[in-house]
Amino acid sequence: MKRIALLGSTGSIGRQATEVVDWFPEEFSLVALAAHRHTDLLAEQVKKYQPEVVVIYDETCYGALKEKISFFSGEILVGMEGLIRAASWASADLVITAVSGVVGLLPTVKAIEAGKNIALANKETLVAAGPLVMNLAREKGIRIVPVDSEHSAIFQCFEGDGQAVEKILLTASGGPFRGLTGEQLKKVTPEMALKHPTWNMGHKITIDSATMMNKGLEVIEARWLFQVSYDDITVVVHPQSIIHSMVQYGDGSILGHLGKTDMRIPIQYALTYPDRWKNNLTRIDFAKLAHITFEEPDFASFPCLRIAYEAGREGGTYPAVMNGANEVLVDLFLSKKIGFMDIPAGIERILSRHQREENPSLEAILEADRWARKTVLEVV
Ligand code: NDP
Ligand code: MG
Repeated sequence: MKRIALLGSTGSIGRQATEVVDWFPEEFSLVALAAHRHTDLLAEQVKKYQPEVVVIYDETCYGALKEKISFFSGEILVGMEGLIRAASWASADLVITAVSGVVGLLPTVKAIEAGKNIALANKETLVAAGPLVMNLAREKGIRIVPVDSEHSAIFQCFEGDGQAVEKILLTASGGPFRGLTGEQLKKVTPEMALKHPTWNMGHKITIDSATMMNKGLEVIEARWLFQVSYDDITVVVHPQSIIHSMVQYGDGSILGHLGKTDMRIPIQYALTYPDRWKNNLTRIDFAKLAHITFEEPDFASFPCLRIAYEAGREGGTYPAVMNGANEVLVDLFLSKKIGFMDIPAGIERILSRHQREENPSLEAILEADRWARKTVLEVV
C-alpha cells in the first residue's frame, strides 16, 4: 500500500489523481488532502478517502469546512503551515504536488527534506528554484517523477543516465491561438483563451498554454529535471498532442512517447514508477488518426516562449521573477483588467527592472517572487 499526500486535491490534476487512486484501491490510499478554498468538493473527498489530515489554505474557509466534515476525527489545518505539515506528513510515502503556482515551492522543499518521494505536477516549483530543488533531492536520495505529460514522456524515453542524449524535442499543441498574429492576439478574451484545443486543465495553465508561457515554463522544468542545456531543448509545435515529447540520441535514434491526451496516464505512471500497471482507458486508434503534423513555434506572436528561454539562460532569480509576474498578469487578464499581449509586455518590463541574484537561497527566491508580484502591479 502506497500512502499518498495530495496537495491540490480539488483541482484538475488533483481530481484526476483521485480517479487513478480509485482504480487501484488495494494499492493506494490518500492520507493527506489539501485545497485552497473549495470546501464542498474537499469535504466529499474527506468523506470518501478518510485521510489523516486535511488542509484548507484559506483560513476564512476553515469554519465552513469544519461544519461540512463534523464526522472527521483527523486534523484540519490551514495556511502555508498546514500545507507544509501535510507535505511532510509522517505516514505519507509519496507527495503529489498538484497545487497551481509557486505556492507549491515551499511544501515541495519540505516534503523532500522529510524524505518523501515526489510526483511533481507543480512545474512552477522547478521554474522558480530548479537547481536548489534538484540538488536537495539528490542529497536526500529523493525521486522526483514528473506528472507534466511532456516531462513524463521524456522521463520514459530517457535511457540510463542520459548517455548520448543529443536533444530534447519538447512538443507543444500551440494552444487555441496558433496561427494568429500579434495584432490579432491583442483582441482575444479570457473566454477565447480558456478553450484549449486538446487539453482540459485549470485556468492558470490554460492561459499559460494560450500565451505559450506554459511551454516556456516547461523548457525550464526540463532543463532542471533532465540536466540538459537550453541549447539542447527544442520546442516542436504538434497540434494533435499525440506525441508527448521525444529524446534524440547521438546515434540518430529518436525515442518518442505517444498516448491519448489524458493526464491520468502520466499521473498513474508517476504513482506506479518504476512499474507500469494496466488500466482500462481507451487506446489510440491509428487507423482513425488521419495525420499528425509538426511546425516551428511562432516566437514573434508568442513572445513568452522567447522570454522564458532568456530568463532561463540568465538564471539566478530571473526565472522566479518571470514566474511571479506571470502569475499576477494571468490573474489580471482573467479578470479583464489587462489585455492578452500585456502579459508578455508586463513580464519584460519587470525583468528589465530586476537586480538578478546569481545563486539565490530559498529565501532569496521567495523574496524575488514577492518583489515581482508587488512591482508588476506598478508597471501595468
Ligand atoms: P487547478 O487550478 O485546476 O487546481 C489547483 C489546485 O490547487 C486546486 O485543488 C486548488 O484548490 C489548489 N490550490 C491552489 N492554491 C492553493 C493553496 N494556496 N493551498 C492549497 N491548495 C491550493 O490547477 P491544475 O490542476 O490545472 O494544475 C495544477 C498544477 O499542475 C499546476 O502547476 C499546473 O501547471 C500543473 N499541470 C497541470 C496540468 C493539467 O492538465 N491540468 C498538466 C500539467 C501540469 P481550490 O480548488 O480550493 O482552489
Ligand atoms: Mg505539459
